[in-house]
Amino acid sequence: MHFGILGSGVVGLTTALELQQNYPNAQITILADRFNEDTTSHVAAGIFRPGTSFTGPSKEITQI
Ligand SMILES: Cc1cc2nc3c(=O)[nH]c(=O)nc-3n(C[C@H](O)[C@H](O)[C@H](O)COP(=O)(O)OP(=O)(O)OC[C@H]3O[C@@H](n4cnc5c(N)ncnc54)[C@H](O)[C@@H]3O)c2cc1C
Repeated sequence: MHFGILGSGVVGLTTALELQQNYPNAQITILADRFNEDTTSHVAAGIFRPGTSFTGPSKEITQI
């Protein structure tokens, strides 16, 4: 099996990692015109926290 991934930002590299873990014998090729510090992902702050406006999931969002 041979996977081709377009992009070497967080989405592309996370996809590659997931595929590598799930298909350890597969060949994975990443194609991109920008790598490492030239990607948007490299400069992202990566802040994941509830903000002051966070009130949790509403009933409308969670109901099936
Ligand atoms: C200043 C800043 C701060 C941020 N802070 C946060 C944050 O705190 N939390 C958060 O969740 N998000 C944050 N973001 C958003 C986050 O950075 C992006 O949503 C995320 O990095 C996008 O990842 P990506 O892999 O989709 O794209 P990118 O990192 O942009 O990677 C795209 C890849 O695709 C390749 N590519 C694209 N088009 C082509 C083409 N035509 N041919 C060849 N290769 C191509 C590029 O070369 C690159 O390798 C921030 C963004 C910025 C700018």
